[in-house]
Amino acid sequence: MGPGSPPFGSQLPDLRVRPPGPASRSLAERLRRVESRNVTHVTDAWPIFWDEAAGTNVRDADGNVFLDLTAAFGVALFGHTSSTVRSAIATQGERLIHGMGDVHPPTKKLELLERLCALGPWQDTRVVLSSTGSEAVETALKTAQLATGRPGILAFEGGYHGLTLGALAVTERPHFRARFSERVYEGVAFAPFPDPIRDGSDAAAAALEAVRALLARGAPNGDPIGAVIVEPVQARGGARVPPAGFMAALSELARAADALVIADEIMTGLGRCGETLASTSVGLEPDIVCLGKALGGGLPLSACLASAGVMDAWPASEGEAIHTSTFLGHPLACAVAVGVLDSLQAEALPARADAEGVKLLGAMTERLVDLPGVVDVRGLGLLLGIEFGGADGRRVGAGVRVAESALLHGLIVLPAGDDGHVLELTPPMGLTEDQVRYTVEHLATVIETAL
Ligand code: PMP
Repeated sequence: MGPGSPPFGSQLPDLRVRPPGPASRSLAERLRRVESRNVTHVTDAWPIFWDEAAGTNVRDADGNVFLDLTAAFGVALFGHTSSTVRSAIATQGERLIHGMGDVHPPTKKLELLERLCALGPWQDTRVVLSSTGSEAVETALKTAQLATGRPGILAFEGGYHGLTLGALAVTERPHFRARFSERVYEGVAFAPFPDPIRDGSDAAAAALEAVRALLARGAPNGDPIGAVIVEPVQARGGARVPPAGFMAALSELARAADALVIADEIMTGLGRCGETLASTSVGLEPDIVCLGKALGGGLPLSACLASAGVMDAWPASEGEAIHTSTFLGHPLACAVAVGVLDSLQAEALPARADAEGVKLLGAMTERLVDLPGVVDVRGLGLLLGIEFGGADGRRVGAGVRVAESALLHGLIVLPAGDDGHVLELTPPMGLTEDQVRYTVEHLATVIETAL
């Protein structure tokens, strides 16, 4: 980049070699020899090895600069390697890196809990911290079971709540579940998530009808249903934004059935969808909220929040917690999260994400929606999707191809949706106007050539 060009962090893509370049390819060869082959997909076109990141940019092992439109699974919502995160790590790193979360708590754990309680949509909130999204989901499921006495769960097709055995029970896609069916709890009923592109304008009414019937009937194994778990906007399911009124009606149905609503806000929360909690935007009224991803600013941290009334279904600890983990209340992660939540409020970041999302969606819609093969461009805040399909209404699984081609233009994006028929964008905040223009133009080129 020449003089006067933006610094690394807000640059346009700058490719020195065709990605993946020789350095990434040689690292991939080494990776193949040491990692379980299930984990990282390695082909001639994939992956690049990340070496450095700042703001919205990533530099790979070959020195190529990319624009990261994933925020690395949504985590770097406030930009990669932000000064808030770096300074919290530096300060806390000098003092206390690991503590005894549920025994002799780190002071930073308490600071974080107090800030998280202020986010809960209830009078009086209680929190359980953990490290990953899956753990927060499992805490929520256990909490709901204790509070209702009913273990059965209603979840949604296309939903993604994590892959550990407890969370896998509510993650519907057979790709993840099929080999482990004997180990996965069978008391989960799956309802369709309303999809007007596939099912037309009656999608919401049909999905609500299914929910009503399933709540009355109970889970496939006969367990009565005590919890409904849902993402306010399905992220990995393909950036599926629920039709207006759906989430409010769902909340009402759950209440009428005495089931608790668990909002999985691991991707949507903390401003991603333009509000601190996306539940607020879509009219969902949760009894329990799961947070993760952006919360730790890049460190592994998650939380399960509930009203005191619900959370007090857990008995008081009599010396040994019934549910805890080694890294619960990890002081380094908590210190970063305190910094993240402070700037979230002080800098009104959700409102900024909302404004940026509106601009990006507007630009994408204008340029992309009429391209052949594109059937929808949608989003809420900075969670956006481009859906591919045929004229006959068939889904077209072009997401992988488009993501691979986009890499050659310096754009990091991911496929989503059960059929890989969506390109998902969950960028960090702070895309410059030039970056938005570049993204839209180059996605258009990629889509036109890849479809
Ligand atoms: N819920 C949602 C909505 C998610 O997007 C994810 C991760 N993509 C999870 C839960 C699971 O989180 P983790 O991978 O940290 O266990």
